[in-house]
This record gives sequence, C-alpha cells and structure tokens, in this order.
Amino acid sequence: MLSLNLIGIDADLFTQSRQQLAGELVLSELDSRVSGHELLLDANDRLAYRLTGGVDRWQRPFVDIEVSGQVHLQCQRCLRAMTQTLNESAHMVLFADEQALDEAMLADDALDGAVFEAQINAQTLLEDQILMALPFSPKHDECSEDMPAQSDKTHPFAALAALTDKQ
Ligand SMILES: [Zn+2]
Repeated sequence: MLSLNLIGIDADLFTQSRQQLAGELVLSELDSRVSGHELLLDANDRLAYRLTGGVDRWQRPFVDIEVSGQVHLQCQRCLRAMTQTLNESAHMVLFADEQALDEAMLADDALDGAVFEAQINAQTLLEDQILMALPFSPKHDECSEDMPAQSDKTHPFAALAALTDKQ
C-alpha cells in the first residue's frame, strides 16, 4: 500500500479533469492526532476513502471527500470497546484566496471551503474528515451487564446499601 503522505495531488489537474483517488487507509499510518486519538482504540482499523475532483456550475473547483468503515472507539460510560460505523462525506469548494473564501462562507452557512493550494495533501484532508466524523462522546446503546461501572441502571438498593455501610 502506498503511504498516503507520499501522494501529492496536483489540485488544478485533479479538479479540472475530474480525477478520483480511492483506496484504503490504516489509522496507524496517519498523524498522531488521529492514530493517537484518545477515543480510537485500535490503530489497525482500516477505512475506505475516496477523493473526487470537479468544477461546479460557478466554475469553482471542488473536492468531494468520503470516508467510511468501522472503527473501535472507547465507550465513555463503561470504557470498553465499541464498534462505530463512520460514513462521512464532505464537499469542499476551493477559493483563490482568503477573501474570496470569507465572502463565500458569509453568503452560505452550509458551505465547506478552503483556499486553493497547488498541491492537495490527501492525508490531511482525510485526517480532518475522520476527526469530524468521530462522535463527541460515544456510548454503547446498552453497556454490557457484567461491568456496570457508572450505569444509570444501578439498582436503587445498591445505592442504599452503600450509604448504610458508611454509618
Ligand atoms: Zn459501554
């Protein structure tokens, strides 16, 4: 597998000729802000990605970014592993400069934009996308019963018993 950070994308060519770059990435090959992320438990997890270049009807170059697959996250209630499906996509419009970007962003709240750079860093784009896809505080729908760390289903009498013990 070709390491992602070795893939330099010529932004002009990629968008004007509507190219595509797709493959699979392993979390461990990404920057530590992803590979060392506190929620991500298994750096061997793999995700499929696809970058698609194009030009919209206002002649603005764009890149569509898609990341999907399953990762192991740490449940924030029982602290055990849970499987989370990520299925994230973004449409990023590229602008000539900061001013054009700011104006477009003001006019359109939902717009996802960036300043055009001659070389697109595929790895950084995908890392940003993965970080945005991660839930803020992932939890099992129901944590398993044999480890009721901070379950809110604690039996009321268990709490009472704990109180009684302290007296
Ligand atoms: Zn849990």
